[in-house]
Amino acid sequence: MNKPTTRRLDLRFLMLAFAIFSALATLANSLVVAYGVQRDALIHATLEANHAYAAKVASSIGAFLKSAHAHLGYSALQLAEDFDNPRLLHAEARRLQAQDEDFNTVVITDAGGKVLHTHPENVLATGSNLDSEEIRRAVEQHRPLISHAYVSATGNLMVFISHPVFAADGSFLGVVGGAVYIRKDSALSTVVSQHFHHDGTFAFVADKHRRLLHHPTTERIGEVLKSSATVDAALRGESGSMAVDNYLGVPMLAGYAPVANADWAVVAQQPRAIALSTLGKLMQSMFLDLLPASIIGLLLLWIGARWITRPLQQLADNATHLSQPQTIDELGRIKAWYKEPAAIRQALITSVQLLHRKIGRLSEEAQSDPMTGLANRRAMDAALDLLDQSGQPYAALALDIDFFKRVNDTYGHDAGDIALKQVAAIIAGHSRSGDLACRAGGEEFVLLLPETSLAEAGTIAERIRAQVEASEVPGVGFITLSIGVACRSPQADSAAEVLKQADDNLYRAKESGRNRVVS
Ligand code: GH3
Ligand code: MG
Ligand code: MG
Repeated sequence: MNKPTTRRLDLRFLMLAFAIFSALATLANSLVVAYGVQRDALIHATLEANHAYAAKVASSIGAFLKSAHAHLGYSALQLAEDFDNPRLLHAEARRLQAQDEDFNTVVITDAGGKVLHTHPENVLATGSNLDSEEIRRAVEQHRPLISHAYVSATGNLMVFISHPVFAADGSFLGVVGGAVYIRKDSALSTVVSQHFHHDGTFAFVADKHRRLLHHPTTERIGEVLKSSATVDAALRGESGSMAVDNYLGVPMLAGYAPVANADWAVVAQQPRAIALSTLGKLMQSMFLDLLPASIIGLLLLWIGARWITRPLQQLADNATHLSQPQTIDELGRIKAWYKEPAAIRQALITSVQLLHRKIGRLSEEAQSDPMTGLANRRAMDAALDLLDQSGQPYAALALDIDFFKRVNDTYGHDAGDIALKQVAAIIAGHSRSGDLACRAGGEEFVLLLPETSLAEAGTIAERIRAQVEASEVPGVGFITLSIGVACRSPQADSAAEVLKQADDNLYRAKESGRNRVVS
């Protein structure tokens, strides 16, 4: 059959490929969008949680400082009653220190900053002046104060929480204060650490100079941070959250809050990677959830593509052998259930009918050989042109009566004519609808057989030869016929070449003894 020589992609494949591509693109897009939304939601939630954490810690520290000032304020009132009484100072300092272990050391100074009493007593020599900047500030400012972190004369990193002592007449008597040692297990670290934290989340506290007052990595306590956007924001009094890189360049999600009444900042943060670690699992489970529906979707696509392309596929299959007689029936059986294939089918049926009618009309017109009723040479050439143009395969038989001159010579020209007519009738009897029997000239015939292989054509030729041999011609007796067979092939692509090959084979049949078929 007339198969296309180059392999082309078919419609079903293209549709399916396109549909699958679209489906996968949609799926990928959904996953990308979902990923973005989930990630942003996780980041937002983490920032919120860390802000809340920082604010909670800040308010706890604020409450701790407030209660420390309240305790000191009460002591200041007690001390004011008899500030010169060392016993009272001793008792009050002891009581303060023992009260709730807020203070590592309690210090009482006079109005000039001279230490009147400390508890425990070995910390500072009684009677010495406090040379610390921070304690001097406490003495000078005459108001409740919380110092920055500083290193005391004894080498301890501490903050000093102080309250002024005023006499009943309002004169300034001195200061009562508590030192909180920051590196030791202080009240501050207890306050910060008691808050719930998880998955790499931690809080740290820094003072006005960005010196760390609390940090889960205790070696870092006392370290002064070079720069910190979160600490700076909290020191400006802001409370909020932001994504930042820590001092090692690790991305963090941080919340921050200022401590009321102290120039301190609390920062709670979690590494971004840990906050987002659930995202991968989330996406994986989402993908697995989508998978069954996707598979069903692809299956439906495949079935749909088959269903839609089926009529077009069948039309294309039939288009390769339009000249075959059964083509119209086959076209009629195709279920062209939507517009385009229905239109193409109608067009194909119309053109097939036209083609068949044209061939038919040619063979009718060609009944112009008056003697035999077969097609004449001109009609044969027209039919060959048509076959050439359509590109469809066909076989050709070249037939020639053996020793016909002798028939004429022996029995006369009229008897020869009778023999010619009888042979023509036998040839016509073996041609099917769609075939074309021609009288090529004199006692030579050609039979054109569309859509016929060389083997089939050889069989038909043999039947014709055998029937001629077996049929007695009235007034002549028995005659024989030699036949050459050829068919359209890559080597003989034009009508001229096919006929030439059939003639060559006829010549060989004559040469090798006549009354035979040569393919
Ligand atoms: P070969 O077996 O080689 O074919 O021998 P042949 O005698 O048949 O030789 P050739 O084919 O050359 O002979 C053709 C003869 O056919 C010549 C001519 O007398 C005869 N002829 C041609 N046309 C007609 C016709 O219309 N009527 C009759 N009766 N004879 C014809
Ligand atoms: Mg001849
Ligand atoms: Mg002859």
